[in-house]
Amino acid sequence: MAQKGQIGVTTENIFPVIKQFLYSDHEIFLRELVANAVDATQKMKALAASGDCKEELGDLKVRIELDEKAKTLKVIDEGIGMTEEEVDKYINQIAFSSAGEFLEKYKDQIQNIIGHFGLGFYSAFMVAKKVTIETLSWKEGAKAVKWSCDGSPAYELEEIEKPERGTVITLYLDDDSKEYAEKARIEGLLQKYCKFMPVPIVFGKEQEWKDGKYVDTDKDKVINDTEPLWTKAPSELKDEEYLGFYRKLYPMNEEPLFWIHLNVDYPFNLTGILYFPKLKDRVAVERNKISLYCNQMFVTDHVDNIVPDFMTLLHGVIDSPDIPLNVSRSYLQSDAAVKKISTYITKKVADRLEGIFKEERQQLEEKWDNLKLFIEYGMLSDEKFCERALKFALLKNTDGKYFSFDEYKSAVEGNQTDKDKKLVYLYATKAEDQYAFIQAAKDKGYDVLLMDCELDAHYVNLLEQKLTDTRFARVDSDAVENLIPKEDKIKPEMKEDERYDLENLFKAVLPAGNDYFVTGDNLGAEAAPVLITQNEFMRRYREMSALGGGMNFYGSMPESYNIVVNMENPLIAKIWASKLSDVAPQAELPAEAPSDASEEEKTKAREAREAVRKAHRSDVEAFAAGNDLLHQIVDLALLSNGMLKGRALAEFVARSQKLLQ
Ligand code: ADP
Repeated sequence: MAQKGQIGVTTENIFPVIKQFLYSDHEIFLRELVANAVDATQKMKALAASGDCKEELGDLKVRIELDEKAKTLKVIDEGIGMTEEEVDKYINQIAFSSAGEFLEKYKDQIQNIIGHFGLGFYSAFMVAKKVTIETLSWKEGAKAVKWSCDGSPAYELEEIEKPERGTVITLYLDDDSKEYAEKARIEGLLQKYCKFMPVPIVFGKEQEWKDGKYVDTDKDKVINDTEPLWTKAPSELKDEEYLGFYRKLYPMNEEPLFWIHLNVDYPFNLTGILYFPKLKDRVAVERNKISLYCNQMFVTDHVDNIVPDFMTLLHGVIDSPDIPLNVSRSYLQSDAAVKKISTYITKKVADRLEGIFKEERQQLEEKWDNLKLFIEYGMLSDEKFCERALKFALLKNTDGKYFSFDEYKSAVEGNQTDKDKKLVYLYATKAEDQYAFIQAAKDKGYDVLLMDCELDAHYVNLLEQKLTDTRFARVDSDAVENLIPKEDKIKPEMKEDERYDLENLFKAVLPAGNDYFVTGDNLGAEAAPVLITQNEFMRRYREMSALGGGMNFYGSMPESYNIVVNMENPLIAKIWASKLSDVAPQAELPAEAPSDASEEEKTKAREAREAVRKAHRSDVEAFAAGNDLLHQIVDLALLSNGMLKGRALAEFVARSQKLLQ
């Protein structure tokens, strides 16, 4: 006898509410219905396996049938089915009890929740004006029933003839959901959500090429892979299979560098495969390439609250029924289970990298340049990962040789320890531009690292904190003699006004627009006459603020350079001597005003002294302007720093030609 009734809803008309809240995500209805069908099928298989059901089941499938004309979509399974009581309990009462209250409470997070509060089935009403369930339970003596509902809280339940066990859900698609009556759209959704579900899902027939067109064959088209690679035992898999699976997931991508197969069943359940992609620079990095599955059902490809930030650079699949989906995204991060999972994944990734370091060192070196952005980002952003990575991260020197941190320390310890017992790691950021400095350091027997990754400005700072008694100095941050000071050096003795003259002499011929700190130093007769260096810390802050580190004060300052004049170099000695003979010494400075003098007298005295200094400065500048040797020396220093450009470069070339004649 047909039964009529009211679904146990608290809100009078719940369907418009569901539609409204799930506006952007209507398409998940298909996932929900297929997931239910898969569940029912697996339960049936479990009954057969346990012997509770004696029937020979055969190969159970889920079928999706679309009638484009009638605009109906069916999801058909051969699962456990439902008795009349079960339909009443699961569909009429449980699935809908307190749904209104629930929707009110969670309206912001509804997308994540649907399907995990028994709303799964009802998501069908997002796209259908009428839904029917025809079902026959596996239980002996059960009678088939048909439930139908047109979107109002009223439903009908009646007995029907249905010889096959299982359930048929029929959706009569809404006028504004016609898109789901298109084969291509349904195919796309099945690909997105059901690609790896554990029961074969059939949609349409395999096609073949016949008489100039594709035609359907008799063979069912199974759209999914029921045993995706991550569900298999790692020990049974070959490299080629992992690479093949990667290609299947990301057909457009280059081959990954390494991968890691996750497999844990205690204290939580998690499987998956993560791939390390080639990473060249941050700009080209693709995130959201890890897909989250729940028992082979696609959930999302936004895992940013589930794994640490740097892990989102990896690609692949994580499958875990233990990641709560019924909570908000921000809550996820503080959820204890998610924290455990996140820590586990980080640890596994570190274990894998350490394993590669120990057992596949050659591979690691070959792939390091494409991997280091990931590792450095991980070290910078995750304390625990950093501690681990110090054991397997590599340093590369300017000769292309790779070292672990321990190896590097042993290699340079003897030669590169300064007078304060600090180990000094020299590094270059651009091998071409800093060639002369690198060469000078090598000539002194030093090793120079190559730090050309865009995170290196931050990375160098981090390493100084992590490696005890070690500091980093860029090769061009000082004269090679001063990079690793071995003993306190005797500086040239210069009087105040001599220092002042030296400064004015060089500033007169250096390009305008920068700040210069000119100092005289004794670097030996063989060393270059002039060195242009940049203070290590100023430069680092500037680079970090360019990368976005908040220190914008440094970013907006003019570039500043140290000009180190080697007073022991014969060319400098020559210039200095001719300055002494050509430029008249500064005239005696007028006396300062006594402290009890009037303001006016003080200003006058100050101006008089300034005038004398200025006159002398003009003399020095005039001398500098006419001194080809000085120009030439400074330009050569600029040139070897890549700082001689445009007009200054043209003048240098012209002057050089003249000097050669
Ligand atoms: P959930 O699947 O999250 O429990 P649903 O609203 O999707 O919530 O379904 C409610 C219940 O209805 C399910 O738990 C199941 O017992 C039953 N059900 C739904 N679809 C099927 C089906 N195709 N075959 C058998 N039982 C089903």
